[in-house]
Amino acid sequence: MKNNQPQNSTLSVWAGEEGDFWAGATQVPVVHSVSFGYKDVAHWLRVALGEEAGHIYGRNTNPTVHAFEEKVRLLEGAEAATSASTGMGIISSALFALLSPGDRVVSVKDTYGGTNVIFTEFLPRFQIDVALCDTTDHEAIEAEIARGCQVLYLESPTNPTVKIVDLARLAQAGHAAGAVVIVDNTFATPINQNPLQLGADLVLHSATKFLGGHADALGGVICGSQTLVEQIYHFREINGATLHPMAAYLLLRGMKTLDLRIRRQNESALQIARFLAGHPRIEKVFYPGLTSHENHAIARQQMRGFGGVLSFILRGNDFADVRRFVPRLRYAHAAANLGAVETIVGPPATTSHVECTREERAAMGIPESLIRYSTGIEDVSDLIADLEQALAFV
Ligand SMILES: *Cc1c(COP(=O)(O)O)cnc(C)c1O
Repeated sequence: MKNNQPQNSTLSVWAGEEGDFWAGATQVPVVHSVSFGYKDVAHWLRVALGEEAGHIYGRNTNPTVHAFEEKVRLLEGAEAATSASTGMGIISSALFALLSPGDRVVSVKDTYGGTNVIFTEFLPRFQIDVALCDTTDHEAIEAEIARGCQVLYLESPTNPTVKIVDLARLAQAGHAAGAVVIVDNTFATPINQNPLQLGADLVLHSATKFLGGHADALGGVICGSQTLVEQIYHFREINGATLHPMAAYLLLRGMKTLDLRIRRQNESALQIARFLAGHPRIEKVFYPGLTSHENHAIARQQMRGFGGVLSFILRGNDFADVRRFVPRLRYAHAAANLGAVETIVGPPATTSHVECTREERAAMGIPESLIRYSTGIEDVSDLIADLEQALAFV
């Protein structure tokens, strides 16, 4: 599908924004109206029945939100897309819309912390069984899939140790078992990876991260077939986790530079990963673009770039060093998010996996002194010099 489309840089700018806007506005207007009025009741009825395009009530659909969904849909090469107020809003909507008591989910241990909480705390309360496999043990994942499942839920690269799973291989196994295959593509973005082309049924994003790119709006989005997306939309319109039009606008504006930002972040992250890998005060670097990464070959096959996020362990693996090192960085926010124009660092112990106990993190292979580094769009020489001076304090 993608081959006949404009390139990603063009789509980042134009997709979803080619409509006729109010008074010829060249930018998508932020429509704050809670509802949409009709002078002709027959017209209203046709829109309400879905026979004609239009909007009725803001919890369901909104023109600004629709433009954002269209931009992501076209970048992922999907038939349909729907959104939610946050990444977790779309993840929980998808899982609760598609699953019923007695169903079974197969996933991996390294999913995003909040997703992991749904798997371990909430789904079991609804008699939904969840099998969480070692993330890179493809044989074990295939064996669990073969036992039967309704949903296969994957993430690649994972957070925070940027593990890579073979999406085409596992999507095939998932389909053989009759499962719906969902991929969280937040870390890769549609610039680096299109899971639908690799065989997934649904691809989702925390738009809060790279899609928006400016750390000023929360949002979530999912793309796939009309049938599946409608099922998820129907649950989301009722649970009410609706994306706000102002957030949709900020995400839309941020996405115009998506291709530019991601290319820059891919390049800088690779240079930084190589720099850190050769540094005597670094114990280990995790980045799928390094040839030393355990699944570098799979990453090369399914990704066009390796993304802006890397992580590393300081020599000695001592949390006291993390406390000294992090505040020394001049060009990095110490914060819980990632994927912004500014570089952001955060130890997973205080960010993505703060919901987990120390023992759970250890079981997930997350060292206490691991530092996640989300490369911004600053000049890479400044970032490397900054890391160099801060490492002198380790
Ligand atoms: C942040 C994140 C989420 C959750 O998104 P929110 O917008 O914070 O709800 C889900 N998956 C991944 C990979 C993330 O990084």
